[in-house]
Amino acid sequence: SAADPAAGAAVKAADRAHVFHSWSAQGLIDPLPIAGAEGSYFWDYDGNRYLDFSSQLVNTNIGHQHPKVVAAIQEQAAKLCTIAPGFAVDVRSEAARLVAERTPGDLDKIFFTNGGAEAVENAVRMARLHTGRAKVLSAYRSYHGATATAINLTGDPRRWPSDTASAGVIHFWGPFLYRSAFHAENEQQECERALAHLEQTIAFEGSQSIAAIILETVPGTAGIMVPPAGYLAGVREICDRHGIVFILDEVMAGFGRTGHWFAADHFGVTPDLLTFAKGVNSGYVPLGGVAISAEIAATFDQRPYPGGLTYSGHPLACASAVATMNAMAEERIVENAADIGERVIGPALREIAERHPSVGEIRGLGVFWALDLVKNKETREPLVPYNAAGAANAPMAEFAAACKRGGLWPFVNMNRTHVVPACTVTEAEAKEGLAALDEALTAADAHTV
Ligand code: PLP
Repeated sequence: SAADPAAGAAVKAADRAHVFHSWSAQGLIDPLPIAGAEGSYFWDYDGNRYLDFSSQLVNTNIGHQHPKVVAAIQEQAAKLCTIAPGFAVDVRSEAARLVAERTPGDLDKIFFTNGGAEAVENAVRMARLHTGRAKVLSAYRSYHGATATAINLTGDPRRWPSDTASAGVIHFWGPFLYRSAFHAENEQQECERALAHLEQTIAFEGSQSIAAIILETVPGTAGIMVPPAGYLAGVREICDRHGIVFILDEVMAGFGRTGHWFAADHFGVTPDLLTFAKGVNSGYVPLGGVAISAEIAATFDQRPYPGGLTYSGHPLACASAVATMNAMAEERIVENAADIGERVIGPALREIAERHPSVGEIRGLGVFWALDLVKNKETREPLVPYNAAGAANAPMAEFAAACKRGGLWPFVNMNRTHVVPACTVTEAEAKEGLAALDEALTAADAHTV
């Protein structure tokens, strides 16, 4: 569509007048006014179009404005916009059935929420009531959401300002060979030592006081660390041995992102509770939820579940989820994510890593990849320090600006950039984005030593 900078300026002025933004110093931000979006792209009012390699916040798995999902929302709006959670309604039942059909094992009961953090809050509540225990273990390299318990479970620095209520939350180190907490030299050592560390953490905390262990199946925002073979099965075995509930957080990794419906499918592991959001309906209407095992569901057969939300199983959200899951199946979108990852993104990133001194490691699967940027490949010193801000973060800010100049919208977190396009991304789009990324990385290379 034609550029209209005046309209863009008006949108921005209206935003600055009354909108209070997430995670930001309100006086220091400059939000880009957006005029529209379609498929793998969105555009501003100045005539700039961006290839979305971030899928917004890694949620538009089906791309922007998928016509089948838009139509389903419109049809549901004309039929029944809202109804309280206590009623039985066709579209909610169908969304629950389609989620339950896809989740592993006996995770066959679905509690719907409005997003990921609420899913995590409710999963932890279920685990605590089911076990009668209070503590929850989570990984340092993690993000689980921004509400009370979810932000305390989160490992990254967004936890720090809200850390006062962390009673019962204990952090441990998950496996991550490139930056091993265990001085491991190979994946097998990393796996064994990470499991031994978890066992020891449990022993010192007291297994009888631990309700749950929560892990992202493949940690997302923290750096897309695909766990070594055997790690998740090992955690499953530890949980079983100690009567601890195993929660897998698939809010980011789920619904096609890794090239399977759920990341857990890569590892043959079934948790007791699985949290989801984002890709379940690509975020077209807010939706999340918890998939619940038969055993935990049975805890609340005769005893009321003490949790609920006005919008649990909201019809518009459920209609968009049904349409999303059906479209993903009909159009083989999960298969596309696996294929593009294996055949296009993986090989291109391996080649990019060889040519750029700033690329320390690439890792991932499906349309879920991270580039770990470094000052020096030998020392693996991160391109910017942990949680850097302002001048200290300049190398990453320059890299991000270079991406945007090249028409690519990147996902950037600390010293990493993630390649997380829509699961619908075409080969041509992936190659266009990878070429822009290749070019922008010269800005990062300039800061290597
Ligand atoms: N869990 C994971 C793994 C996430 O990546 C996120 C969001 O990025 C959340 C939970 C929180 O989800 P929401 O922002 O929908 O509350």
